[in-house]
Amino acid sequence: MSLANKLAEERRGRLAAERLLEQKQAELHAANRKLGLHARALSHEITETRQEVRTVRDENQRVKSDLTVANEKVEIAERRLWHSIQTIEDGFAFFDADSRMIAANEAWLAVFDGLEMVRPGISYVEILQLITEEGIVNIGDRTPQGWREYMLDRWHSPAPEPEVVRLWNDQYIRLTDRRGADGDIVSLVQNITAMIRYEKDLQEARRRAEAANRAKSAFLANMSHEIRTPMNGVLGMADLLTEGSLDDEQRLYVTTIRHSAEALLVIINDVLDYSKIEADKLVLHREPFDLERCIHELVTLMQANARDKGLDLLIDYDLFLPTRFEGDPGRIRQILTNLLGNALKFTEAGHVMIRVTGVQAAEGAEADIRLSIEDTGIGIPPDKVEHIFGEFNQVDDAQSRKFEGTGLGLSITQKLVRLMGGEIWVESEQDVGSTFGISLLLPVAEAGMPEDMQLAPHLGRALVVQPHDTSRALLERQLGALGLEVTACDAPGAVPDLAAGADVVICDHALPDMNAMDLAAALREAGHTLPIVVLSANSGSIAQHPARDLVQAVLQKPLARRDLIGTLARLAPPPDAEPAPPAEEPAPPRAMRVLAAEDNKTNRLVFSKMVQALDIELSFAENGREAVALFQSIAPDIVFMDISMPEMDGKEATRAIRAIEDGRDGHVPIVAMTAHAMSGDDDEIMASGIDHYLTKPLKRASIVTQICDAATPEMRPPAGAAVQDAG
Ligand code: ADP
Repeated sequence: MSLANKLAEERRGRLAAERLLEQKQAELHAANRKLGLHARALSHEITETRQEVRTVRDENQRVKSDLTVANEKVEIAERRLWHSIQTIEDGFAFFDADSRMIAANEAWLAVFDGLEMVRPGISYVEILQLITEEGIVNIGDRTPQGWREYMLDRWHSPAPEPEVVRLWNDQYIRLTDRRGADGDIVSLVQNITAMIRYEKDLQEARRRAEAANRAKSAFLANMSHEIRTPMNGVLGMADLLTEGSLDDEQRLYVTTIRHSAEALLVIINDVLDYSKIEADKLVLHREPFDLERCIHELVTLMQANARDKGLDLLIDYDLFLPTRFEGDPGRIRQILTNLLGNALKFTEAGHVMIRVTGVQAAEGAEADIRLSIEDTGIGIPPDKVEHIFGEFNQVDDAQSRKFEGTGLGLSITQKLVRLMGGEIWVESEQDVGSTFGISLLLPVAEAGMPEDMQLAPHLGRALVVQPHDTSRALLERQLGALGLEVTACDAPGAVPDLAAGADVVICDHALPDMNAMDLAAALREAGHTLPIVVLSANSGSIAQHPARDLVQAVLQKPLARRDLIGTLARLAPPPDAEPAPPAEEPAPPRAMRVLAAEDNKTNRLVFSKMVQALDIELSFAENGREAVALFQSIAPDIVFMDISMPEMDGKEATRAIRAIEDGRDGHVPIVAMTAHAMSGDDDEIMASGIDHYLTKPLKRASIVTQICDAATPEMRPPAGAAVQDAG
């Protein structure tokens, strides 16, 4: 190869090498630039990481310092808590799940009086051991071993009951131990010595108060006896005096004595009842009774009072409610007397109505009875309504101050109602009237309707003539409930026209401008033959009326459901011939023999005067012994027996008489006469063999009733016509 070629080749080779070099250099440069970029990115990352590290380190630092602060706080709180636990009077200790003490405050440790072994770490078993060894607790009759076992059982129970223990120094502590979820136990010890002493003092005070209360009751029983005995003389004599011939002035004096004595008796009875209830001495005597009759008797008694004031006294006894219940009729009568008495006392015009409704859940179940006494009287201001049920509380305003009363009636009434398990309430509006309501649960003593409610089929329409709105509405409702179609009017004017469409006229006696008898005469004259029933507050006076035969029946107001239904049932058939009067008995051979045992001279006089109109042979005994002797010698047909008598009291004499009778036929009624009014006395008295029971002051009517009830056909009837309405 030529040199030129070689040179050219060499140059080409060099050029190629130079190009390669250039290329490599360019590549190197690119790599370098990449590397530079990467290095820059790395260094940026390092800076960031460093920053983060610094932040984390700062946070760490802050957390550490926060933790220190928190720790300090916890320590302070713990110190304070412990300090508090140390300062409280109650003992606190903590035990772990193995029953080892973790900590205890000084009050808890104080019981151990500085025993060094009692410190954190000691077990509960060791503590019990120490207590018995050192005699720290008065363990009573238990053996130390028995006591420790008992306490340990208690400790291990899931929820230990609080335990009161007596310490050697007569201090009492209550242990309350609570188990936590992880088995720890917190033990609380409270010193209850003061409380126990206080309880003992209270018990002692209560015992003394009860003794004083018993003494008070006994005192009241005696006082009642002492006061009632002379009251019998005062009232009895005043009663007898009113029957004699007196001039007007004397009559006024005697009536005043009687009223004052009666008022005094009411007060004595109120105070007595109140203290009996207070001393829990009042016992209810349950027996079957007729509620409707009870209300009627009461209303009959109060009728004169209502009539004097021109008030209508009405009874609205639910027609579909049974009338016989089980309860204490005496106390129910007392409640109603009180409420009815108040209603009449505080009402000057309008009416007083006793309403009885009730529901019986099922046959044989108790009936829920609602009794309400509604009046149209002075009412009670709203702010006094609660007040009136309190003792000696009265609405003290000019209007009511003029009324007499002790202010005990409602208080006793409320207590009696509550004693019967019932409720009492009042709704009242001043100058409009009051309604006192009572609810009582009473067992029914008679199922279903007491009356045959079947009226004769021809009685379909009744015409009611009644001027008073309330009475008219009541009668309309009652007759409607009996299935009658009722037309009502308030004045007699329209009656002759309306009568044509009626099967019976039921007419109040007192009508505007005329009375029912005049109306009856007018109806008969106009040719009406339908039956006429007259309602009168004084039915007795109509009996003498010349036109009495024009009407079929005269019913006493307030109307008894029995009377109304009975009369309407009897109106149906043509009147039967009156049952023939019983054949004349041959004259009985002897008078009834009555023996009365009474130690008080005045009361003997009262008794003899009260029965002087009777056809009887009366003998007196002055004590129980004499009564027994006379019982054997005169063979009385009835004995009246005072209970408190010298030598032999009435109960003992009765027992002696019953013992004499034991060997013979017959049973002579013995009627107790007693001034005792405490509950419980009557039970004891009846237990001695007494048949009946009269409380002093005696009422002539009750004595006469007892005597008449005891009469038999072989005796002359003791009551002549003159004494039929005695009392
Ligand atoms: P007393 O009637 O002996 O005063 P109560 O306890 O029976 O005592 O009655 C307390 C008071 O309640 C009465 O004094 C009277 O102010 C008021 N009060 C009771 N019933 C009625 C009534 N039906 N209407 C208006 N006020 C009444």
